[in-house]
Amino acid sequence: MTYNPDNVFAKILNGSMPCNKVYEDDYALAFHDINPQAPVHVLVIPKGPYESMDDFSKNAPVDLICGFFSAVGQVARELGITEDGYRMLANHGADANQEVPHFHIHLFAGRNLGMLLPR
Ligand code: 5GP
Repeated sequence: MTYNPDNVFAKILNGSMPCNKVYEDDYALAFHDINPQAPVHVLVIPKGPYESMDDFSKNAPVDLICGFFSAVGQVARELGITEDGYRMLANHGADANQEVPHFHIHLFAGRNLGMLLPR
């Protein structure tokens, strides 16, 4: 697949769509999910055209990969969710129902999140 530069997160990154920003540095942008599934539901996206974890881990430069994952940890600390705990999740592809084709990590927190895959 080729990265689609018209996806909503690309538009948020280039400033043509608004977001409720919580963090930004040279590598990452974090903002509140528009349809939160937990009291805290923040999305962290890398500053680069990568459509999913597979694309990002295969094709992004090492400094971006390091900077991005450092930023995810920093976002969690700034949100104040490290003590009680949080869940990070990334959907890749059809079976995971990835909706937006720009790599992103979800941070969920603010309540007990239950089992990862409830039976
Ligand atoms: P995915 O299923 O791709 O892992 O998750 C995409 C997430 O992006 C969903 O949780 C959805 O609510 C969120 N989302 C979709 N469009 C927008 C938007 O325009 N702004 C924000 N802040 N979140 C969005």
